[in-house]
Amino acid sequence: MIKKILIANRGEIAVRIIRACRELGIETVAVYSEVDAEDLHTQLADSAICIGPASATESYLNMEKIISATIISGADAIHPGFGFLSENSKFAKLCHDCNIIFIGPSYEVIETLGNKSNAKITMKNAGVPVIEGSKEAVTDVEQAINVAKEIGYPVIIKAALGGGGKGMRIANSSAEFNTAFSNAKKESKMAFSDERMYIEKYIQNPRHIEFQILADKFGNVVHLGERECSIQRNHQKLLEEAPSSAIDDSLRKKMGEIAVKGAKAAKYENAGTIEFLLDEDGSFYFMEMNTRIQVEHPVTEAVTGIDLIKEQIRIAEGEVMDLTQDDIKIRGHAIECRINAEDPEENFRPSPGEIKEYHMPGGNGIRVDSALYPGIKISPYYDSMIAKIIVHGKDRKEAIRKMDSALGELVITGIKTNAHFQHKIVTHRNFRKGNITIRFIDEM
Ligand code: ADP
Repeated sequence: MIKKILIANRGEIAVRIIRACRELGIETVAVYSEVDAEDLHTQLADSAICIGPASATESYLNMEKIISATIISGADAIHPGFGFLSENSKFAKLCHDCNIIFIGPSYEVIETLGNKSNAKITMKNAGVPVIEGSKEAVTDVEQAINVAKEIGYPVIIKAALGGGGKGMRIANSSAEFNTAFSNAKKESKMAFSDERMYIEKYIQNPRHIEFQILADKFGNVVHLGERECSIQRNHQKLLEEAPSSAIDDSLRKKMGEIAVKGAKAAKYENAGTIEFLLDEDGSFYFMEMNTRIQVEHPVTEAVTGIDLIKEQIRIAEGEVMDLTQDDIKIRGHAIECRINAEDPEENFRPSPGEIKEYHMPGGNGIRVDSALYPGIKISPYYDSMIAKIIVHGKDRKEAIRKMDSALGELVITGIKTNAHFQHKIVTHRNFRKGNITIRFIDEM
């Protein structure tokens, strides 16, 4: 049994995990950088340890400091949340070697699935449809251009170790290829210290549909239905829903079964997400598997009634999962809006600063996951997402109404946020009709 968990993260996800631990009667240890000393997670955890200066490489990304904090505090497990070290196989291995439970899959699985080309090979071998793409990662532009020619334009160039839409460029023709490739490579070097690139066919008008998976240590795997994540800016999700208006029961069953098959083939364990692109003609292709809890997990929690963080902890403790596929029922419709500290009027530039007035919406079927309070300073060092509003209604129409009303009630002053922009999305005619693809924001 896990008695004490160190949360190697900050902000709303750290708070979310602390709350789940509290319900399970598990003690919590927060870690924080010097600028986060007053953050909510440091105040809510049973104890808190400063792990260094603001720069993430010296704090939240510093494996040795986090492992030391775990050992000193006597915690027996680490929950990595998302971002930071959550998908770092070296960190998961370090935990393993130090006899600390890493709440996530094994380091071997993280390593295989973290590399876009290896992940595709694993899935293809399991019979999961994958997008046509390079057999292996490439660094040389001449080699890459040959791959693109073979696949046929348009192509998308991705950082092999990519995440969060970084190191990604589209090339519509060979004339555009060289610039796109070198820009993607440069960005990948900056973000991931890696120049290996992956090239695949660019699908013109797809939806991003992902399936939530839960898998225990004994090979029991279930899916918890899909999330529709097509509303993106620069390949980064902004608004997510469950279920998707493009998926009926039979397609859900088909895609869900394939997702489970893929997870089993990868020997997956714990919570994970299989991302697909769904094309206009109904065909779908594996894109990647995220080996961690996702930002958008609350929409799945809303429609299934299952607490994913608690499930992650139980699985990591070695419990046999008591859920079967038949137990999982999708009820109603949920939508999440990410509230980011950024200024839509200034090309979404980050907007750090002190929060003055603060009021979050509430009411039946409204959940807010945030680590905000009046007077907190939003620092420029980390991701700009500061809160998530999640609504759950009896159907999509009701969920949209609730979100419309919740966003109208939200008050955050002192910094700029994208709340008004989110409101524009949920009140947009095409969004209401469910006419959405990954190009929605470009076209609105
Ligand atoms: P990351 O790991 O950076 O999140 P993903 O591979 O998950 O990158 O892709 C992020 C987004 O980029 C997708 O949700 C989708 O909108 C777009 N995308 C990725 N691959 C393709 C593709 N082959 N065709 C069209 N769009 C794509």
